[in-house]
Amino acid sequence: MIVNLLNNNHSYSIQKIKNINEWVNKKLFSITITKDENFVFKAGQFTRIGFNIENDSKDKNILWRAYSMVSSPDEDELEFYYVIVPNGQFSKILSKLEIGQEVFVRKQSFGFLTIDQFQGNNDNLWLMATGTGISAYISIIKDKKTWSHFRKIILVHSVRKVEELTYQTIINKIKTEQYDIGNTLTYVPIITKENTQYLHDRLPIITRNGILEKTAKETLDCKCSSVMLCGNPEMLSDMREILIERGFTTKTSDNVKNLVMENYW
Ligand SMILES: Cc1cc2nc3c(=O)[nH]c(=O)nc-3n(C[C@H](O)[C@H](O)[C@H](O)COP(=O)(O)OP(=O)(O)OC[C@H]3O[C@@H](n4cnc5c(N)ncnc54)[C@H](O)[C@@H]3O)c2cc1C
Repeated sequence: MIVNLLNNNHSYSIQKIKNINEWVNKKLFSITITKDENFVFKAGQFTRIGFNIENDSKDKNILWRAYSMVSSPDEDELEFYYVIVPNGQFSKILSKLEIGQEVFVRKQSFGFLTIDQFQGNNDNLWLMATGTGISAYISIIKDKKTWSHFRKIILVHSVRKVEELTYQTIINKIKTEQYDIGNTLTYVPIITKENTQYLHDRLPIITRNGILEKTAKETLDCKCSSVMLCGNPEMLSDMREILIERGFTTKTSDNVKNLVMENYW
């Protein structure tokens, strides 16, 4: 009852942590939490989650940060995937979470990393992420609406180490399911700080030299592709420049918008 009253009167709801998954020791985690029945979002959007920093329920003591939803809009729970940033104020709290703990979740969802931003009839969707930027894309590839717009999706995930290539089971499952109905999910991992069988150079480099397209077996052509960029601002800025040179546009004015981006810091 008290929880319901609080949920009604604030711009946030109070949820509970149901599960915590440690993907990489003390570095990469995901949490699954309960979801307010009125909380709606589009795949690719984010919300703000908060924790009480002084162990009472006064608004001023809640610390908030933006996190992309990993879960798809029709799932009953919310999932968030996060990195523990050394010396980060919020990261310090995230590194000590426990099952059953309360999480504050803004009632509103935000962001334009969504497929309804694209105009025109493009066949291919390129999803390019560094690190935890993959969060938004897991939601997008899980969502059936995405696959009714795009037949081919190329998911490019750049991380430092192989162990950071998370969500492989889900990616493989969706790949098989979509293949069975005539769609294609191509997964292109990039490992920048270890020598592995995967691509090694930064995303802007392998885009410029054509290795990315060769590996994906698809052309990055502005006439038939839409692109999303998510994660590290430096990657976004470099990729934006390359894509704009290739004819992609972030502008809605000429009705051909085919590039959207989300900076994580
Ligand atoms: C729209 C949006 C969506 C976001 N979604 C996610 C998400 O799904 N998962 C997630 O882990 N973070 C996400 N973030 C970042 C998140 O909000 C926090 O900034 C981050 O978790 C660190 O918080 P902090 O207080 O510990 O450190 P902060 O003081 O906020 O950040 C300190 C520094 O850490 C680095 N940093 C911040 N976030 C990241 C990151 N994700 N990966 C690598 N380095 C980082 C930057 O150099 C930053 O300057 C998102 C940010 C935005 C704006």
